[in-house]
Amino acid sequence: MRIHHLDCGPARPVGGALMDGASPGAFGRLTCHCLAIETERHGVVLVDTGLGLRDMLRPAGRLPWVNSALLRFRRDPDRTMLRHIKRLGLHPGDVRHIVMTHLDFDHAGGLVDFPQARVHLMEAEARAARARDGMLGRMRYRPVQWGDTERWITYPDRAGGRWFGFDAVTELEGLPPEILLVPLPGHSPGHAGVAIEGPRGWVLHAGDSYFNRAEIFAEPPHCPPGSAAYEAAMAWNGPLARAQRQRVRSLARDPEAPLAVFCTHDPVEYVAMTIWSERQRSPADGAAAA
Ligand SMILES: [Zn+2]
Repeated sequence: MRIHHLDCGPARPVGGALMDGASPGAFGRLTCHCLAIETERHGVVLVDTGLGLRDMLRPAGRLPWVNSALLRFRRDPDRTMLRHIKRLGLHPGDVRHIVMTHLDFDHAGGLVDFPQARVHLMEAEARAARARDGMLGRMRYRPVQWGDTERWITYPDRAGGRWFGFDAVTELEGLPPEILLVPLPGHSPGHAGVAIEGPRGWVLHAGDSYFNRAEIFAEPPHCPPGSAAYEAAMAWNGPLARAQRQRVRSLARDPEAPLAVFCTHDPVEYVAMTIWSERQRSPADGAAAA
């Protein structure tokens, strides 16, 4: 198994350090941290898809304009999952499965670029996305991005076993037990993390359960105020989202739980995971792996 960490929606949000805690000047940096996992028997498995090719080329009507204006995505077709896959020397047709943390517009945009892939997600997320309740629901869920929804495979909450103290869906249809959905509802109704056991142990893609590394790894935890405001505005259930964040924080800081935790939008985590991944290049192997 090889895990490629890919930014499929780099953004330069208004607010500089207020958004990312680090950037000087008026604009910060955010990522859409997705994964492409090369497996031996199950083809290529994606975790989230970021913005899709069509979102980059013609975003009007596909992306919510308020979020787009605030986040200022770089409209670069070369930063889509489709182009990343080709650049890695893989074939888009080899992508057989896509595991979704949730269906927000900045995660689901590339679904339509891989029409042959089966899409795995929590049942509550599928239901909420189809219902598009309220202003937040209509804004965050964009059916134009999804392609054929007949290929969705949905999972009820608490459908499986335990994973480091979390409930987890331990069997995803057609996927090996090294790839799990870990329900973390709060940011959205069916939000989930995706846990993967790679050659060097477990990693948890925590999706949007937090936005900035300082929420998880700093003592005391904190978040740049611009990012915190965006996070609160996008939360389906604020108290539940905060509780999930606390659970992820406890897990990430537990010395008995040897695993790497990262979220979607923190650019420093993205760089760290990319470097960590490339460091696993073995002389015999000659390619990045995790
Ligand atoms: Zn997001």
